[in-house]
Amino acid sequence: MTYEYTRAYANELDLVDPLADYREEFYLRPGTIYMDGNSLGLLSKRAEQSLLESLADWRELGIDGWMQGRHPWFTLSEELAALNAPLVGGRPEEVMVTGSTTVNLHQLVSTFYHPHGKRTKILADSLTFPSDIYGLQSQIRLRGLDPAEHLVQVESRDGRFLDEEDIIEAMTPDVALIVLPTVLYRSGQILDMERLTAEAHARGILIGFDGCHSVGAIPHEFHDWGVDFAYWCNYKHLNGGPGSVGGLFVHERHFGTYPGLSGWFGSRKDKQFDMDHSMTPAEDAGAYQIGTPHVLSLAPQIGALKMFKEAGIDRVRAKSLQLTQYMMDLIDEELEGFGFVIGNPREDDKRGAHISLEHPEAARICKALKENGVIPDFRAPNIIRLAPVALYNTYADVYDVVSLLGTIMLEEQYKRFSNERETVA
Ligand SMILES: *Cc1c(COP(=O)(O)O)cnc(C)c1O
Repeated sequence: MTYEYTRAYANELDLVDPLADYREEFYLRPGTIYMDGNSLGLLSKRAEQSLLESLADWRELGIDGWMQGRHPWFTLSEELAALNAPLVGGRPEEVMVTGSTTVNLHQLVSTFYHPHGKRTKILADSLTFPSDIYGLQSQIRLRGLDPAEHLVQVESRDGRFLDEEDIIEAMTPDVALIVLPTVLYRSGQILDMERLTAEAHARGILIGFDGCHSVGAIPHEFHDWGVDFAYWCNYKHLNGGPGSVGGLFVHERHFGTYPGLSGWFGSRKDKQFDMDHSMTPAEDAGAYQIGTPHVLSLAPQIGALKMFKEAGIDRVRAKSLQLTQYMMDLIDEELEGFGFVIGNPREDDKRGAHISLEHPEAARICKALKENGVIPDFRAPNIIRLAPVALYNTYADVYDVVSLLGTIMLEEQYKRFSNERETVA
């Protein structure tokens, strides 16, 4: 596909976009272009409505909302798991919507990390999100081991990407468990999950993935790939709202594995209210729930996830790839000579859903973008992340953002700001 570098052409692409109508369903702040859906997706009218319905259930039904609500709270996590499942390529019973990313990491690592004999180490990487590393370090400490020795982080050769060869080489006989991101949060690189899973299993190692930056943006086949477990958030690409409840996947071959962190909501549903002091865990991924679900942080997902069911993750991915390709082409064409480097993989099968634009003045270029109504995010030390989201961004948005970047550089507007990050970047 060849693109033209005019706004008229961007408008033409928008006219033939099969997902164009979804934009109307979101609350977009007039005069702004939102490019931060990979940090916090926007509110849709459907998500707002399903939240208001759950509030009305509480208002009108009190305790009976658990069984008689429009979306009965007692089975809401299961209802949402069925909507999450196709997005990760899991069977509905392999998926649960519960906890948060970091809590689910703790749950799954508690469940699947059993250092024994010489196999005592966890293998991760040096580019992953810090919360994952903090969680893994504390899990190692809880086993009475020293993270400095038992957490191995594969290095990156260039500070941007991981090489699957390096990861495979690090799968040594002392590794008990591997935890990696599906998509790196800075460079947007997609790891070859299928290959890494096969290589880990060939060496007798369990492997799990953090899907925060891919779920809702790219298709997955966690079941078919044989991934042991995965976890993700529902507030980035899935638009579930700030702090919305996360998701987890446990492959059915592990059903029956006793949860590392148990609580009564992990019980078989028909047994939960027996109030017995010996737990009967659910026979599927439901076992890895802990306590009472955060209903008001689940409720927006009812509306939000139905949009994905309708739109289909393959169409979302197809548009996302075109948006990011268009953005890269425009950057190459329009921003030459301004010192930008595209720091994400260019290949379709390796590129997640955002552009990682590197520049020494990135922090203040982000501030200049914001002053002009564009919402990017900044990742230290030098990355401007731009996420054109398939359900609510347009090709015209992409064109306007790149053209604004050109103006900011040409007029040196960024020089009016300090090159430091803000508290929440
Ligand atoms: C956003 C994100 C998190 C955040 O975890 P929370 O528990 O939801 O705060 C963790 N890991 C990755 C890779 C992320 O992108």
